[in-house]
Amino acid sequence: MKKHNFSAGPCILPQSVLKQASEAVVNFNDLDLSLIEISHRSADFVAVMEKARNLVLELMDLEGKGYSVLFLQGGASLEFLMVPYNVMTIGGKAAYLDTGTWSSKAIKEAKILGEVEVVASSKDKNYSYIPKDYDVPSGVDYVHCTSNNTIFGTQIKEFPKTEAPLVCDMSSDIFSRKLDFTQFDLIYAGAQKNMGPAGTTLVVVKDEILGKTGRKIPSMLDYQVHISKDSMFNTPSVFPVYVSMLTLDWLKSLGGIEEIEKRNVEKAQLLYNEIDRNPLFKGAAATEDRSNMNVTFLLTDGSRKEEFDAICKAKGINGINGHRSVGGYRASIYNAMPIESVEVLVEIMKSL
Ligand SMILES: *Cc1c(COP(=O)(O)O)cnc(C)c1O
Repeated sequence: MKKHNFSAGPCILPQSVLKQASEAVVNFNDLDLSLIEISHRSADFVAVMEKARNLVLELMDLEGKGYSVLFLQGGASLEFLMVPYNVMTIGGKAAYLDTGTWSSKAIKEAKILGEVEVVASSKDKNYSYIPKDYDVPSGVDYVHCTSNNTIFGTQIKEFPKTEAPLVCDMSSDIFSRKLDFTQFDLIYAGAQKNMGPAGTTLVVVKDEILGKTGRKIPSMLDYQVHISKDSMFNTPSVFPVYVSMLTLDWLKSLGGIEEIEKRNVEKAQLLYNEIDRNPLFKGAAATEDRSNMNVTFLLTDGSRKEEFDAICKAKGINGINGHRSVGGYRASIYNAMPIESVEVLVEIMKSL
């Protein structure tokens, strides 16, 4: 029996996608060749890349709005550096919201290239909430935020309002909820949290913000180089791009972001309701900032831990140990997680 996979990343993917992907590894498009042994410049793979790109724009409702879509490598972690390389002017300054480990890593990289103003931070309470009363300074090159804090289980509901380009690390909640994506000028996400396998990073960038830094950018770090080569400046990670395309196609066939958001809310409510009802558990994040993707919670009676863990194991629950910086548990309930798996976890919690 397939386990109930609550892993924070790499993430659960739809069963139908895994099946299609495995078939393509053996025989892609009836070519009698594997997807991973053909040229990335072959018509068959170019079509995959194009379809993936178009699905991103369609699902985000960004078609014809001046955005380019890239599938790069190096993870979201390389974007921490690529963003300032491409958007921070020489001698310039950027504003960052510090809402967790990933935000602070992004800040560290940006500081290599320029001045960073941290407009607000929730570090004082181990990132258990999203700061709200802050002023975004004017005259900055861009403002950076992290939409969902994978480790701490918090999620931004109201994004910073700014005249400057808004940059968002959406690694762990991309395509999970309806947003006005035009409020962002640059979105990036490592595929492996909610879109596909590890090995590719999605970047959606508004063309007009590029080319203004005055900086000499190494080719591999230059968004404009990758845009001009349709994400094929060097060999793209063909398999992760293909599987991401399949997952986006799966999402579209379900009814897109609107439909998946309904399901995601339902799953999250089910779990949070039990956390709030059951005196043995308590949520780790501030209630109003709770994430619908990564549900963090603690046992209030440590002596029941062995029992809880043992039942979880027996029932096929995988990957709910909390990150070491929070402790307790983290149930990641990404797009592909069926509500039935959440029900199994909730039943176990109820039985305790
Ligand atoms: C996992 C994660 C990252 C790091 O992603 P890599 O692809 O491993 O570099 C960055 N930001 C967020 C929000 C994440 O969840």
